[in-house]
Amino acid sequence: MTENRQIQITSMPKDKLGLEHFDLVVSDRPSPGPGEILCRTLYLSLDPANRAWMQGATYRSALQSGQVMAGFTLAEVVESNDPEFSIGDLVEGDGGWQDYFVKTGRHLTRRTRQEPLTHLVSVFGVTGRTAHYGMAGIGKPVAGETVVVSAAAGATGSVAGQIAKLKGARVVGIAGGPEKCQRLQDEFGFDAAIDYKNENLFKALKAHCPDGIDLYFDNVGGPTLEAVLFRMNLHGRIICCGVVSQYDTGNPDPGPRGVPGLLVTKRLTMRGFIVGDDADLMAGVDSDLAEWVANGSIKVAEDVVEGLENAPAGLIGLLAGDNFGKRMVKVS
Ligand code: NDP
Repeated sequence: MTENRQIQITSMPKDKLGLEHFDLVVSDRPSPGPGEILCRTLYLSLDPANRAWMQGATYRSALQSGQVMAGFTLAEVVESNDPEFSIGDLVEGDGGWQDYFVKTGRHLTRRTRQEPLTHLVSVFGVTGRTAHYGMAGIGKPVAGETVVVSAAAGATGSVAGQIAKLKGARVVGIAGGPEKCQRLQDEFGFDAAIDYKNENLFKALKAHCPDGIDLYFDNVGGPTLEAVLFRMNLHGRIICCGVVSQYDTGNPDPGPRGVPGLLVTKRLTMRGFIVGDDADLMAGVDSDLAEWVANGSIKVAEDVVEGLENAPAGLIGLLAGDNFGKRMVKVS
């Protein structure tokens, strides 16, 4: 193929993200310059953070209208002017929403081929590593504790909850809809699940966490965090992984209310993180995940959307909770 399909941002969303914010453009396949590598996208990771990057600068610069939509990709080298990279090598990097991209070697990370390749995007990719880093590395649940995980049926949450189970905790998931809640308990070993879209969170947390909450792995922020705060135990820990409830809006909620007072009276620790910040915490992540998937202690949930052209709808759906497990796009 000599063409390169790209999904470009045509305008920045002022409120909810829609298909009108993207356009599919066909241009020529790029050529690698001296020292550069041409890569063909195999899988494109869809992440709630894609939308957060449109709100402004985060841990990366803000996205702008007219740019190719940014995104993390698993790709294959098809041409290389860098002796360290050969045709056929598997790499990952911020390739964006396009068939082909050119990078220098320092912007690519080599991955070892394995089956299924999709696991390199899900459990062995950013979200699986995030779950391990945040839950096992920072949260450190121990046997007998009650752990609550929000966005529990998502890519990060489903793995984080299973890791807490592995460590002997009692795990309660929060997810949208009865089907997700049923699957979390039947297939993923959660002790209980709360459907935040149809249940009163305060009452449900009281019913399912009769001994209070020792550790909360927060993927969502907003009203869910507010409700959990009231049920936290003395000296409880809150691990702030993400704020997905506040990404797809032009008017983020300034809450949750009650944080300062409850932090003091309950002597809580609240800690945010970005995966990979601390090399020591990353040390055992890949080997543990490989072992736990191989021995069946962690089940992997994946949700694959077919075709680059469906990436915008895929991201919009992810933000609305259409996915169970890691959503990605199969590009080629
Ligand atoms: P998920 O697979 O969990 O997908 C997002 C989920 O968020 C949806 O499935 C939906 O599930 C839920 N959701 C959407 N809107 C709301 C809402 N208003 N309230 C509650 N839940 C909502 O995505 P990821 O696993 O990729 O990401 C999960 C979190 O982890 C995000 O906040 C992300 O930013 C963060 N993250 C953090 C990293 C770090 O280094 N700190 C790295 C990677 C991810 P439902 O149907 O249950 O509503």
